[in-house]
Amino acid sequence: MIATVAVFAPLRRMYDYIALSAVHRPLTVGSRVWVPLRHSFRVGIVVEVRDGNTENVSKLKPIAEILDDGSLISKEMLHLACWASAYYHHPIGEVVATILPAPLRAKTLVPSVGLESWSLTELGRQALEQLSVKGVRQKNILEILENNTYIYAEELGELDYNWQSPMRALLKRNFVVKSIVSEPIAPIRLLGSSIVLNKEQAHASKNIHETLGKFQPTVLYGVTGSGKTEVYFDVIDSVLKSGGQTLFLLPEIALTKHLVKRFRQRFGSRVATLHSGMSKKERVATWIRCKKAEVGILLGTRSAVWLELPDLQLIVVDEEHDAAYKQQDGFRYSARDIAIVRAQQLDIPVVLGSATPSFETLVNVENKNFQITHLKNRPLAMSKTKVETIDVRGLKLEGGLSETLIGHMREHLAKGQQVVLFLNRRGYSPVMICRSCGVLMTCLRCDAYLVYHKQKQSLICHHCGYRKSAFNKADCCAEEVTEPLGIGTEGIEEVVRELFPDKTVCRVDRDTARSAKVLEKILSEIGTGEIDILIGTQMVSKGLDFENVTLVGVVDADTRLYSIDFRAEERLAQLLVQVAGRAGRGNKAGEVFVQTQKPENAVLRRIIDDGYDIYSKLALPERREVGFPPYVAMALVRAESKYPERPTLFLTGVRKILQKECVNADISFPIPAYMALRAGRVRALLIVRAPVKVEIQNLLAACLDKIESLSKVVRIRWTIDVDPQETL
Ligand code: ADP
Ligand code: ZN
Repeated sequence: MIATVAVFAPLRRMYDYIALSAVHRPLTVGSRVWVPLRHSFRVGIVVEVRDGNTENVSKLKPIAEILDDGSLISKEMLHLACWASAYYHHPIGEVVATILPAPLRAKTLVPSVGLESWSLTELGRQALEQLSVKGVRQKNILEILENNTYIYAEELGELDYNWQSPMRALLKRNFVVKSIVSEPIAPIRLLGSSIVLNKEQAHASKNIHETLGKFQPTVLYGVTGSGKTEVYFDVIDSVLKSGGQTLFLLPEIALTKHLVKRFRQRFGSRVATLHSGMSKKERVATWIRCKKAEVGILLGTRSAVWLELPDLQLIVVDEEHDAAYKQQDGFRYSARDIAIVRAQQLDIPVVLGSATPSFETLVNVENKNFQITHLKNRPLAMSKTKVETIDVRGLKLEGGLSETLIGHMREHLAKGQQVVLFLNRRGYSPVMICRSCGVLMTCLRCDAYLVYHKQKQSLICHHCGYRKSAFNKADCCAEEVTEPLGIGTEGIEEVVRELFPDKTVCRVDRDTARSAKVLEKILSEIGTGEIDILIGTQMVSKGLDFENVTLVGVVDADTRLYSIDFRAEERLAQLLVQVAGRAGRGNKAGEVFVQTQKPENAVLRRIIDDGYDIYSKLALPERREVGFPPYVAMALVRAESKYPERPTLFLTGVRKILQKECVNADISFPIPAYMALRAGRVRALLIVRAPVKVEIQNLLAACLDKIESLSKVVRIRWTIDVDPQETL
């Protein structure tokens, strides 16, 4: 037998190996093998098996070992991986490795994972009935167990408190037993719903229900807080009841813990999660449970799109516009797009939900590839959230805040309501200036300013991590006279604390919310009303769902408007709408104020006065005119090197190679990246555009080998980015 193997190495092709009779396991597609490659051995996955009798096999190397008894990756998933490898022009071995949890990429056995689980004993039941349990937490746990045959550690982990110590106490008193469930058939525990869908929601749900059993993308276009989640639940419920599995993708899990909680409350232990906060062991366990179809709903971030679910019947991509779906290094895939292709290959529906659909998705609706269904109202809101701009030109600002905004903050706070301030810039101030000569402090390794962090007493480069003491004197002048220029979230926090000494102020950005635990604590404190004013970066634009937040202040809307990227405006629109969507989610009226130097800017006006829908209808034709995606297909060839001349040299060569094969594509000259110097490397890129995707595919495929050889001659790091998020 001959096996075609995707070896876990950055190689663009697969290799044939021969299976000699000495190997003691059957050769199956999807199982791992240990094979010789050059002067060592590697793990790979068998992608194809064929009879070698008719071929000359003398040149083939033998398989050293077959590592698994059966297949680890199904034919469907291999098919998807091969598609992704070809589409994104990424080495097949690395793509296939991506599908496996990290520990299985090595020559290890698949662990037979049992899951720790707890159940209630008769003693425990009696104790609960006789109300003889004192501790609130202990009682709480018993109550959860009462309704379930057993419950996993993972589920308990989502309680808001440290559950281990009350559990130990319960174990000591024999109220609970712990067991390792090796093959748990999760009990179906549908808790039902107390919410009755309104007319719009029922209509949307019906539209999606009608697509079950066939490939049909549906865009669920619902304003923030319109009850999209309830629509998903309604459809997922049907899928579960018919024995199917659902894959539910979301951009981020730490910020959306409450969403996970809602899933648990509704669907109990049929829910599993997969995200970067999990340990390797936990990820393997989830992977195995999904494969065995013990999981009814897999909730996960980007990489969850690769998990095998044998009874998959529905895929949901929530907040489909979010840039987090695109992996930005290595294998640069879009989980949203992979999800759509996966649905197509399996002939199942996919739902793309958003309050601000991406332009790609809107064009797909325009072209009738996707159907669309709307939710235009918030079920709970009494009145529409009011959005206004504040012209900050010539105003004296306090920590970046205008008198007007501060006044509105006072009003809302006086009523006991909560305020969110948004600024997409962390640190105390984005740049330091030398007072004697006016020089701005820059990073020596990047084309970027050093950001002043007051608490850390440091100047930090946000791009390469370079850090120096804020007390070092500037290099430009003899005296020590630098001062902060402009404001970041840390700076605002300081000013807001002074302005509102009797209020609790909290900041969420990557400096304060370093871990998921800290973030969770902050989020729960907003929920309980312990925090009055929340200041944050784009972390606050996602997911936050608190009914008492009634005022949102956007401190500075201008930075994004003047970015040179073709998607900058679209991103600004999405961000503004999402941030504004944090206000007025309950039944109290919400207000949003946007501070800007250019209140008359046409784009800003459209977004604010007319809303995302009208904005996008006007912006799309403009996009078509300038010839950018989604109206053309695009790929970038990026190159970087420590030697300044190499990227351009290499890309000039790449351009020549491409032009020779090119039929209908437009290939730019090498362009310096927006931040041409980053972490000590000079970066440049080539933009390839064509009317349709397949032309780019064919062109790149035809040239790949030549480009690869050239890169070895020039000695340079390079990547291909298909459907890039940005051209910076
Ligand atoms: P989205 O996912 O669109 O942001 P959610 O599904 O989170 O919106 O709904 C926003 C709020 O409205 C939630 O608190 C939810 O419980 C509530 N809600 C949604 N649908 C209904 C309904 N039909 N009746 C009452 N409340 C609802
Ligand atoms: Zn730097």
